[in-house]
Amino acid sequence: MKAVTASAASKQKVARLAFWTIVVAFVVLGLKAVAWWLTGSVALYSDALESTVNVIAALAAFWAIRVSHTPADQDHPFGHHKAEYFSAVLEGVLIVVAALLILVEVARAWNGPVNLDEPWTGLAINCVASVINLLWAQLLIRTGRAERSPALVADGRHIMTDVVTSVGVVAGLIAAVLTGWSILDPALAVIVALNILWQGWHVIGSSVQGLMDRAVDKDEHFRIRDIISANSRGALEVHDLKTRIAGRATFIEFHLIVDGDMSVRESHVICDRIEEALKAEIPSVRITIHVEPDHEAKLPPGTSAVPFA
Ligand code: ZN
Ligand code: ZN
Repeated sequence: MKAVTASAASKQKVARLAFWTIVVAFVVLGLKAVAWWLTGSVALYSDALESTVNVIAALAAFWAIRVSHTPADQDHPFGHHKAEYFSAVLEGVLIVVAALLILVEVARAWNGPVNLDEPWTGLAINCVASVINLLWAQLLIRTGRAERSPALVADGRHIMTDVVTSVGVVAGLIAAVLTGWSILDPALAVIVALNILWQGWHVIGSSVQGLMDRAVDKDEHFRIRDIISANSRGALEVHDLKTRIAGRATFIEFHLIVDGDMSVRESHVICDRIEEALKAEIPSVRITIHVEPDHEAKLPPGTSAVPFA
């Protein structure tokens, strides 16, 4: 009962943070739009456009976190965890679209670079936006890690790359204003666009992996094997261990070989012991164990510990 209350509280915390991320994204977008409007800089335009992506990403993450926390129902008996991947794919596609829009604008500016109006006010406003982004990103990454929410961590990381881009853009624009080389402005925009394309590629790639029922990584796989081995006293063998990740949930299934004459009750005790141990170590884990008699074993009998085939 206590565990249920704690997880409800952490879900609320994550959902509240996801909501405020939308508000922050709008404020930052507004500041960056003003900075662009004051200067007419293509680099600041691309920086602002990247922030519109952040707004949409924040909206999508908010939706995904809500849906993915919906308990399993009759239509979705395994839960709704994969909602997070849909929002991430959408985010990736939008990121790519933003990059292409920037390149269109760069092509226009390349033919006739404009001199920047009001450069210092614009740059100062852009810096304020970046500081807000930096502080918010740190909060998201810290809380996301503590609450085990991959969506929040991803949101924070994404905003951090936005901060890095902005620092580069501002430094470059200061150089452009000081040297008078106006070509630096569209040139910086190209770098921003390429950085955004790279992010989009990354986001799409990792979400597609999730939709494709990717297994846990090697270290985690061996950790799961060790937990099962250490808790399967009374069984003869374990084989066909399969895992898949869906958002924050991990699905585990395997075959457990026991003496064919063992009672259902006894084998169930072993299953429960393994399940308890896995649940204690891995958050949001779902386990399916298929019990088989000894003639299904894949290894020759006689080993003392419970081996894996
Ligand atoms: Zn089997
Ligand atoms: Zn049971």
